[in-house]
Amino acid sequence: MTNEIAIRVAAVRERIASAALAAGRDPKEIKLIAVSKTHTVSAVREVVEAGLRVFGENKVQEGENKIAEMGMLRCEWHLIGHLQKNKVRKAVRSFDVIQTIDSLDLAQRVDRIAGEERQAPLPVLVQIDLAGEETKSGIPESEAEELIYEINKCRNLRLDGVMTIPPFLEDVEMVRPYFRRLREIRDDLKTKGAFSGGIGDLSMGMSHDFETAVEEGATMVRVGTAIFGRRG
Ligand SMILES: *Cc1c(COP(=O)(O)O)cnc(C)c1O
Repeated sequence: MTNEIAIRVAAVRERIASAALAAGRDPKEIKLIAVSKTHTVSAVREVVEAGLRVFGENKVQEGENKIAEMGMLRCEWHLIGHLQKNKVRKAVRSFDVIQTIDSLDLAQRVDRIAGEERQAPLPVLVQIDLAGEETKSGIPESEAEELIYEINKCRNLRLDGVMTIPPFLEDVEMVRPYFRRLREIRDDLKTKGAFSGGIGDLSMGMSHDFETAVEEGATMVRVGTAIFGRRG
């Protein structure tokens, strides 16, 4: 079992590196986030043994429990699922990065609570909905710039970049335009100074399409199944 996870981690790393090199990028620019949702703490520990220390969870409660159980084994935890208002304090206390800011209301609440709970500003990403699917979370592209302008006024937030969850499409070439669009949005925002000195992270790409995302400029890929195996 241990072996299996270590082999998968190595394989994902290799695929990221070859996609990066083929696109003329330095593989070190890409942060691999192991998405551990539904998986056990012992599986998370195996991933740590394989040399990875960055994890993603989509539910606040599950993440909080896992982070507490990991104890002294310090990792970096990203919240990648929708954040409900009544869970903001828990999220701010447990997670290192919140990738799913998608409204001004939420941004201001996270800002206020981060000011109460933390010493340093909290790194956040804005989740942009490029598919225009009403059911999905994420702010519509047309409203993203205004939100980002407002987030830059929040003293307890540090805007690191943008993330997106494209529609699930079997053919990854159909997903590519979403990745490309997010990069264009990031480039435009960066020109306008939205990421105060930072590169403007692009969080995009999951198990079935992370190589395409890397080709299109992803600096963070969120990979669950290809590392942990199927979710039960
Ligand atoms: C579950 C999840 C992932 C990982 O999905 P896999 O297909 O298992 O790699 C990535 N991003 C988000 C937002 C998720 O919820």
